[in-house]
Amino acid sequence: RSKRRGRGQITVYSSEIAEEMKRATHLEQALRNAIITDAVEVYFQPIVRLQDGAVLGFEALARWIDHDLGFVSPSVFVPLAEERGFIDALSEVLLSKAAEAALSWPQELFLSFNLSSAQLMDPGTSETILSTLARAGLGPHRLELEITETAVMTSADTAQRIIADLRQHGVKISLDDFGTGQSSLGRLRDFTFDKVKIDRAFVSQITTDRASEHIVKAIVAMCDGLELQVVAEGIETHEDAEKLKALGCGMGQGYYYGKPADTAATHTYLRSRYQQST
Ligand code: C2E
Ligand code: MG
Ligand code: MG
Ligand code: MG
Repeated sequence: RSKRRGRGQITVYSSEIAEEMKRATHLEQALRNAIITDAVEVYFQPIVRLQDGAVLGFEALARWIDHDLGFVSPSVFVPLAEERGFIDALSEVLLSKAAEAALSWPQELFLSFNLSSAQLMDPGTSETILSTLARAGLGPHRLELEITETAVMTSADTAQRIIADLRQHGVKISLDDFGTGQSSLGRLRDFTFDKVKIDRAFVSQITTDRASEHIVKAIVAMCDGLELQVVAEGIETHEDAEKLKALGCGMGQGYYYGKPADTAATHTYLRSRYQQST
């Protein structure tokens, strides 16, 4: 009896796996198609100076709405493109669109762009990025690349070479989602970054949880000492912003300052801001 039930469970289990594989393959086809038909978009979220709220740049965030599947999160389709080996193609399309949009912004604003871990294992990545920028006509000094601790640690040598090469061309490097990865502070010392982005997990609790407050305070102090710029991610309220300012955090990003918006809305947003201040 129990044997039969066991067998039944195995059947259910394997059909779930088969279902999941079918789903992933369908998603892969749809995504590949979206890249070809130019259906993948880039949105932009402002990164501000906390002191006065001035916009310093924007983070590019991939957006894809499929006819049948509807909204698919980049946390789903970016890893899928990595697994199925076409993150390069996806990323090139995204960077090219983002760079083109950034051309119409005031020149002092930076474009921050996410690199996936697979790209940091591929020695061809710096060349691809620089040539994509050149084709778009955006100077490398306007670009910042967001990478995660885990990505850097998994392929340390190659990643280090890619980072050094890009920095030599004026590209800046941000450490994204800081505090959630698997690195030790000692390993971090071996890499050269320009900026650290404190993960939303700490920022969202900063007014309610003493531990989060202390962690953010320590990260800010460490970044000051290392002469790294620091950005707090996921600022949603006025109270979050005030607390972070009081802790000496230089920059911030989050729904409180602006949700990710498409190219046209970003343009409008900038126009209204720049008319106000100049
Ligand atoms: P991330 O790079 O850490 O991006 C920040 C995420 O937090 C974004 O989610 C953004 O929409 C969200 N966010 C910003 N402010 C707030 C806030 O105040 N509250 C809350 N709850 N969320 C906020 P999104 O756009 O869904 O992107 C998820 C992740 O997907 C990104 O995390 C990044 O790792 C990846 N991703 C997005 N676009 C790209 C891309 O073009 N290339 C690569 N390689 N990865 C990307
Ligand atoms: Mg990011
Ligand atoms: Mg982040
Ligand atoms: Mg994240």
